[in-house]
Amino acid sequence: MKIISDIEEMIELARQWRAAGESVGLVPTMGYLHAGHLSLIRQARADTGHVVVSIFVNPTQFGPNEDFLRYPRDLDEDKALCEQAGVDVVFTPRAAEMYPENYDIYVEAADLSRRLCGRSRPGHFRGVCTVVLKLWHIVQPHHAYFGQKDAQQFLILERMARDLNIAGLVLHQMPIIREADGLALSSRNVYLSAEERRQAPVLRRALLAAERLYAAGERQAAALLDAMRQELAQADLAMVDYLEIVDTVYLKPVAEIKGQALVALAVYFGRTRLIDNILLGEK
Ligand code: AMP
Repeated sequence: MKIISDIEEMIELARQWRAAGESVGLVPTMGYLHAGHLSLIRQARADTGHVVVSIFVNPTQFGPNEDFLRYPRDLDEDKALCEQAGVDVVFTPRAAEMYPENYDIYVEAADLSRRLCGRSRPGHFRGVCTVVLKLWHIVQPHHAYFGQKDAQQFLILERMARDLNIAGLVLHQMPIIREADGLALSSRNVYLSAEERRQAPVLRRALLAAERLYAAGERQAAALLDAMRQELAQADLAMVDYLEIVDTVYLKPVAEIKGQALVALAVYFGRTRLIDNILLGEK
C-alpha cells in the first residue's frame, strides 16, 4: 500500500493506471475510519482494479463555529485499517496544497445546498462539492463510493456530476452501517458522553416509527412526523435541529408521500450534531 500526499504524484499514478486500461475506485473520507467507511472500501475493492482512499479533513466544509480543529484524527490506525482492507493508495493531501494562497474557485449547488443540513450549515456543501470535484480531477476514478448516511451529500454530488458533465464516472451509494443498538456509525460519535451515547439511538427509533406507519399504509407526512416527534421526546438530551420528509429530487418537503421520499433528521446532543435518514417508497 502506498501513502501519497503529493497531488502531482497522485495525478501521475492515476494517469498511468488509466493509460494501462485499469479501473480506479475512489472512497473520499475525512479519516478516523470505522466500519461504515470500510463497507465502501470493500465495495470499491470488489468493483475496481485500484482502490484509492482519500483522507482529508477538508477545512472548507466546516463553518467558523464548527469542529474542524477538534475533528477526531488517527492516521496511523487509518493506514492499518486500509492496509488490512486491501487499499492500494491512501491519499492524504496537505491543506496548503489543496487550497494554496489565492485559492479562489468554489463549486456550489445553488438550491440543494440550502435544504436540510444546508440550513444549519451554510457553506458546508460548497466545501464538499469543491473538495470532491478536486479529488475527482486528481484521482480520475471510474467509480466513487459514498454512504447513504449523508444522503443529501450524495444527491448533490450526483447533480454535480450531471450538471458539470463529469464523464465516465459512476457514483455508488452504500447502505448505512449501524451499531447493534441502531446508532449510525460516525466519526463524531466519540464526542458523545455516556448518557448522550445511551440516548443517541433515538434517531433510529424515530425513523423506524415513521417506517412502521408507512408500511401500515400511512402516506401523510404530518402523521409520520408526529410519530417521530413523540419518539424523540423520549430522549431528554435530544435537541432536534430538523426533521423533514422531502422528495428525492428537489429535497423539498412533501405533504403526502408519493413515489420515493427521504425522511431525514439532525439532532444535537450537547454540541454534537448527529444525522440519520431512511428512504421510503420507490422512485
Ligand atoms: P466522512 O469521513 O464522515 O466524511 O465519511 C466518508 C464517507 O463515508 C461518506 O460517503 C459517508 O457517507 C460514508 N459514511 C459515513 N458513515 C457511514 C455509515 N455509518 N455507513 C455507511 N457509510 C458511511
